[in-house]
Amino acid sequence: MTKIELTKQMIESEFLSPLKGFKKEIQVTERRKDPLTDEWCRISIERATRPVQLRGKLDEKIIKKSSEKCFFCNKRVEKSTPKYIPSLVPEGRIKVNEFILFPNLYPFCKYHAVGVLTSKHFLPVDEIKSERWKDCLEGCLRFFKIVNEKNPNVRFPSINFNYLPTAGASLIHPHVQILNSTSPSVMTGLYYKKSWEYFDKNKTNYWQDLIEQEVDDERFVGRTGSVFWFTSFAPTCNNEIIGVVKGNVSSLLEMGEEEINNISEGIWRIFRCINRHGFGYNMVMFSAPLDEHLGHFFSLNIKIVSRPSLSEYYTTDRGYSEILHKEPVITVIPEDLARDLKKKF
Ligand SMILES: [Zn+2]
Repeated sequence: MTKIELTKQMIESEFLSPLKGFKKEIQVTERRKDPLTDEWCRISIERATRPVQLRGKLDEKIIKKSSEKCFFCNKRVEKSTPKYIPSLVPEGRIKVNEFILFPNLYPFCKYHAVGVLTSKHFLPVDEIKSERWKDCLEGCLRFFKIVNEKNPNVRFPSINFNYLPTAGASLIHPHVQILNSTSPSVMTGLYYKKSWEYFDKNKTNYWQDLIEQEVDDERFVGRTGSVFWFTSFAPTCNNEIIGVVKGNVSSLLEMGEEEINNISEGIWRIFRCINRHGFGYNMVMFSAPLDEHLGHFFSLNIKIVSRPSLSEYYTTDRGYSEILHKEPVITVIPEDLARDLKKKF
């Protein structure tokens, strides 16, 4: 095992605060570097307490109204969603219990599918139980295999989840986006490159080193069998959790029944621990190419982050710093988050 270096800087800023009768106040911001990607983030603890105008509760009206014409609800899913051509998927759509996978009507890669997770229009994210995730993973694997067999150059898979409109979902009905592409996404490509450079330098797998190092550290949350869950040292969003599969599994196709069960259970447990009423979430499963085994330097991993709550007038968490400076401002301390989650996990 190689020791992973964790770099942080402390920045003090001084002013006379009107909240303290114009007495001197010193606020501390931490700047932290992601040990793999070298990307920086800022953690501003005080910012979490700043007044946000118009913070509200989950907007029940939006949920009710959106169900009226939802394409994924009831019989409409059969009538209103696209089908694959029979030579690719003979039944048109892939079904595993409640899970239904079909082509995205507006794709942004060669094979871009949508998978509806549940027959219910709205489910709090912590009520999407491990069985639903298990069916989802099984359906996605079937899809990846079929596509890759017929198109060997389509080999970069990812499973992605936008939960609620504040996290980018255009429909409230819980669904995943399944991409199988001829090239990796920018972040997937960066992970391959940086993981390879780490291996080249240290002769060890960064992700397995991360497990070894973090399991005894304050960011460790818990494990579901072979999958280890911890908070990111340098998050890109608030409440950022990473899950890494211990061992030699680098791609989604290398998952056996055990990994599918462990990952599904872990996703459910994480959402049970972090869910706050009405919050949005993003999740991505990062995989090696379908036809390659990269287990010596890359491991299958999952990232989960929280987004603002779905209230009538919400404040986005993506501002100039995140979008244009590529330097996220985080208001949750990863070590505090892990301590909190560990109790409930
Ligand atoms: Zn619906």
